[in-house]
Amino acid sequence: MDCDVAVLGGGPGGYTAAIRAAQLGAKAVCIEKEPELGGTCLRVGCIPTKAWVQTAFAIKEAEETFGKLGVQVGEPQLDFGTANQWKDQVVKQMTQGVAGLFKANGVEWVKGEGRFKDANTIAVDGAEDVSFRSAVVATGSFPLRPPIEGLDSVRCVDSTGLLAQSQVPRRLVVLGGGIIGCEFASILRRFGSEVTIIEMLPKLIPMEDDDAAAELSKQFGKRGIALHLEKQCTKVEETGDGLRVYFGDGETVECDLMLVSVGRGPLVEGLGLEEIGVELDRRKGIAADEHRRTTVPHVYAVGDCAGYWQLAHTAFREGEVAAENAMGHEAVVDNRGVPRPIYTDPEIAGVGLTEAEAREQYGDDVATGMFPWVANARAVMQNDTTGWVKSIHEARYGELLGIVMVGPHVTDLIEAGVVALDAEATVETVADGMAAHPTLSEGQGRQATASTSISKSGSKSPATWTSELVGGRAVSTNSSRTARIVCKSETSTTKNVSLTTSGHSAPAARRALPTFVKAIRVCSSQPRPEAIVRSASIATWPDVQTRVPDGMLTTWL
Ligand SMILES: Cc1cc2nc3c(=O)[nH]c(=O)nc-3n(C[C@H](O)[C@H](O)[C@H](O)COP(=O)(O)OP(=O)(O)OC[C@H]3O[C@@H](n4cnc5c(N)ncnc54)[C@H](O)[C@@H]3O)c2cc1C
Repeated sequence: MDCDVAVLGGGPGGYTAAIRAAQLGAKAVCIEKEPELGGTCLRVGCIPTKAWVQTAFAIKEAEETFGKLGVQVGEPQLDFGTANQWKDQVVKQMTQGVAGLFKANGVEWVKGEGRFKDANTIAVDGAEDVSFRSAVVATGSFPLRPPIEGLDSVRCVDSTGLLAQSQVPRRLVVLGGGIIGCEFASILRRFGSEVTIIEMLPKLIPMEDDDAAAELSKQFGKRGIALHLEKQCTKVEETGDGLRVYFGDGETVECDLMLVSVGRGPLVEGLGLEEIGVELDRRKGIAADEHRRTTVPHVYAVGDCAGYWQLAHTAFREGEVAAENAMGHEAVVDNRGVPRPIYTDPEIAGVGLTEAEAREQYGDDVATGMFPWVANARAVMQNDTTGWVKSIHEARYGELLGIVMVGPHVTDLIEAGVVALDAEATVETVADGMAAHPTLSEGQGRQATASTSISKSGSKSPATWTSELVGGRAVSTNSSRTARIVCKSETSTTKNVSLTTSGHSAPAARRALPTFVKAIRVCSSQPRPEAIVRSASIATWPDVQTRVPDGMLTTWL
């Protein structure tokens, strides 16, 4: 079979790439070996775990909140069979949704396991070979197993094995306090398990902000989850009706089931990649540039098999970018505003730099602001005031560097932070924004107001400033009578595009900055319709003139 774009793997990275390629006019084929589309995320990852999170949340509401709000429903009971039916139903609906999207967009699903035969052909088990002009590798990742004696017991399961349980384990040991381990610990504790986490590093969710990790440890402690940090598991032993887990300095804990969640590795072996010249690293995965091109230019790689993030939404975006490039466009992935959701109780969400990362990059020029949920009316009336919102910005010009949140519904709320980071907003811009009252959204504006030393528009703001975008980062100074933004982009399409503002207040010019920067970034990467819309919105800005040395903006406007 011949096609324009062949995609190996039908998870978030792969199915998005196949659909986007088809939308751009390609004959697109997706090769997937599992009986359903959707990959880890839809079948055994994000979707089924979050269906369980929803059950856990319902139990929490019934246990802690309904009575206070005057709703009497009696003692909540977990019906695990029904919870699993609900999980399976959600998974089915979502995986069938992808199959429906394939049909609607004309993507052909070739069922079977694929392997590169040469640089333009994928051989598929049980199906005919697929010949292509371009290919996208999206084979995902697999759960790692450390070499620990006894870990081959059937009672030691990975996340897929835990999701397949038909009974709630009375005692669960979680090996690894990363995101997946903590999410399952949180869920299973609410389902009634006695939960113990063993983590070899000094904090839970090691990559996340220190304050967030500390808050999670504190709340897990209150919920009765036993934590053993900086402890290594050394051995696992069958006891007949369970397991004895050895860790630390001769300590032991007994359990019925052990979740092994020590990380996931890129699935890159046995695909014939090296034979066709694609460079890869067994630990980090396939090497790909910001266009998602591998060392073989017409072969792209996206998602967990080629990524640092191991998140569904980064896989989605990478899939889209790879497909657009395969179809002759010039698209790039920008990783500045990647949301980091963690669906524990309490939830955690971050975007941009953590405080430690910010201090590493900016030294003492870092300020933070914190707003506790206990001061938010909506959180109070929801009986859920655990946690806070924290903003991290550089202190001289107020550029927002990161937002970290712990608390109710923060995995939804973080989107406002993503937009702010993506638009290179200052903390002042965030503080200036209005949020409906009473809502949880007010939390973001309030922490920004609390943390900014630059006052809101009109009052004590500096009268004039200059802003320069160098290497993709906005820097502002108060040194001139006009506001000037210079984009020194490295790409071939934008060089020294500038916007000059005059005759109006600095805050108004400052507000123009994110829109302009966003437009430059989008336009420089790819001639997409939204770029034109964003540029047009600059044109209609009443008091902003544009000056474009190389004529680029004139063309768009
Ligand atoms: C328990 C758990 C919970 C998670 N929760 C979240 C979450 O809440 N939010 C989030 O953003 N991320 C979450 N993730 C991570 C997310 O699932 C992954 O980042 C995402 O699925 C990666 O997408 P992908 O397309 O790269 O790979 P995958 O989703 O793994 O898809 C790869 C596909 O390729 C197929 N394949 C592999 N090799 C071949 C071959 N040779 N031939 C044919 N087909 C092949 C596989 O069968 C699979 O369907 C979670 C992961 C787990 C394990």
